[in-house]
Amino acid sequence: MTASSAKPSLKSRPADCPCGGAAPNGRAPGKPPRFIDCCGRYIDGGAAAPSALELMRSRYSAYVLGESQYLRNTWAPQTCPADLDIDPAAPDAPRWLGLQIKRFAPLDATHAEVEFVARYKVGGRAHRLHESSRFVRGDDGCWRYVDGDVSDR
Ligand SMILES: [Zn+2]
Repeated sequence: MTASSAKPSLKSRPADCPCGGAAPNGRAPGKPPRFIDCCGRYIDGGAAAPSALELMRSRYSAYVLGESQYLRNTWAPQTCPADLDIDPAAPDAPRWLGLQIKRFAPLDATHAEVEFVARYKVGGRAHRLHESSRFVRGDDGCWRYVDGDVSDR
């Protein structure tokens, strides 16, 4: 550890939040929120996402930004992959194009589901990931991703 180039404050961050402020039923704002006012509060600011919906959005933004550590921190330990490492600069890395939230279903105080569609490109080909994700809230009050069912529709 020598130079100061690895300081989080010097990371390049977009002005507009990658998640676009996605909300259920297409009720996303026309103009994307500012990153520092949206997912940046959780990814860089260390605040806990108040619900599984905000957590879902911030995890999408973390994929866009290559924040593997944040993804790890917000993944239930039982299901978090051991080899999770995201490098958005890698040639075969997906280029994320946008997030849509289809459904946000709080089930009880500690369980929730979020159904979403994330669009991305790999090697010039467009794909969409349609998933219903399960989230749990731990004893520490933090929401975490558990797993999800991918739909091919
Ligand atoms: Zn956001």
